[in-house]
Amino acid sequence: LRRNLGETEFHQAVREVLETLGPVLAKRPELVDARIIERICEPERQLIFRVPWADDTGDIHVNRGFRVEFSSALGPYKGGLRFHPSVNLGIVKFLGFEQVFKNALTGMPIGGGKGGSDFDPKNRSDAEIMRFCQSFMTELHRHLGEYTDVPAGDIGVGGREIGYLFGQYKRITNRYESGVLTGKGVGWGGAQARTEATGYGCVLFTAEMLRSRGEDLDGRRVAVSGSGNVAIYAIEKAQQLGARVVSCSDSDGYVVDEKGIDLALLKEIKETGRGRVADYAARRGGDARFVSGSGVWTVPCEVALPCATQNELTAEDAATLVRGGVKAVAEGANMPTTPEAVRVLQEAGVAFAPGKAANAGGVATSALEMQQNASRDSWSFAHTEDRLAEIMRHIHASCHDTAERYGAPGNYVVGANIAGFELVAEAMLAQGLI
Ligand code: NDP
Repeated sequence: LRRNLGETEFHQAVREVLETLGPVLAKRPELVDARIIERICEPERQLIFRVPWADDTGDIHVNRGFRVEFSSALGPYKGGLRFHPSVNLGIVKFLGFEQVFKNALTGMPIGGGKGGSDFDPKNRSDAEIMRFCQSFMTELHRHLGEYTDVPAGDIGVGGREIGYLFGQYKRITNRYESGVLTGKGVGWGGAQARTEATGYGCVLFTAEMLRSRGEDLDGRRVAVSGSGNVAIYAIEKAQQLGARVVSCSDSDGYVVDEKGIDLALLKEIKETGRGRVADYAARRGGDARFVSGSGVWTVPCEVALPCATQNELTAEDAATLVRGGVKAVAEGANMPTTPEAVRVLQEAGVAFAPGKAANAGGVATSALEMQQNASRDSWSFAHTEDRLAEIMRHIHASCHDTAERYGAPGNYVVGANIAGFELVAEAMLAQGLI
């Protein structure tokens, strides 16, 4: 704790994992002797750098860039870049730490890392975004490579930003190294279904979790938070499986649409126009209404999918959801549910899927993109989606079975943490003291 002063979210993420590892450490004293816990909590490398750029009026801005290369036990560092004014070292480290276990759970050969900047892309022109991305990559490129470190998107970093970042990497290195970034455009090395993968995967995991309790998603009332990449494709897959999604949100407020979210309209507003959910309510008309503030979890539902940001679902929200009859909560975002809220849900018997399992479909499909790039191949949407579905079933089974094996049946937090930890710890033991 003393070494990582003030890194609140990092402490929270580490505590959540360590609290569940007791049974495996008791069974495997060699992991304690090898100091796996101390080593796994310390990133292999942390980079912090200056990102200077000029806006459209010529004014100069200086942002801070981060890349935390957390663990290469299972493969090259892999994890997204986040551009949001709240980004600091503690947030990047929490995300990187989670990523290590999540990537292990996918069963793919990828290590864990995360990065980003406190740059705020909101209300910036395309030209400003491009100049920022070019300046960011001018420093970051020396640390990347398809065998070293492979970033992707996260909050504030989508297809447009990945394009500008890739262009600058290519220009500086004079190499068309497709596998150095994932989330690329489908016409130039990107994988079909990568854009959809995190949201789709979250809903597929939810369906598996319900199935293991003899239930399904068909006809269920679903509340979603967020309206970005993860939220939009969670809504799409939930609707495909017969659910009625009645909410979405952004940092200004939330929309309640009892008829079910009109996804074509939401996509047009968010993906084409970069608009707000308030615009959705105004254009949708009828009963759809916009409510300002952070009350999306007051919308009663049977399934809740938090897909916006960390710590957005509190104990009070969890209690409200339980009173409203929620049966399942699956984290599309990273650590959106506070530890107190997780406790409230679990004690009420709600099926709860932690992000490192439920949202792993995005990074798994990034690993599929790396496979296609390495073999200079490109797969169909259907083939990639089938692989994603198979991976989500595998993650569900491994979390479910591990929880049972360690005496906590139905506890996906325990299952995900121990299953991910065992894979990383085995590799660390085998690779010696590095
Ligand atoms: P986007 O930038 O596409 O969307 C983020 C959404 O969350 C927006 O609607 C945004 O609203 C909202 N949001 C962000 N911060 C806040 C806040 N402080 N309060 C309320 N709403 C907020 O990001 P993604 O959809 O890609 O990411 C969402 C979450 O999913 C993150 O936790 C991310 O780490 C996680 N994730 C993403 C993956 C991916 O493949 N993209 C993979 C795995 C996890 P506004 O526009 O107002 O900021």
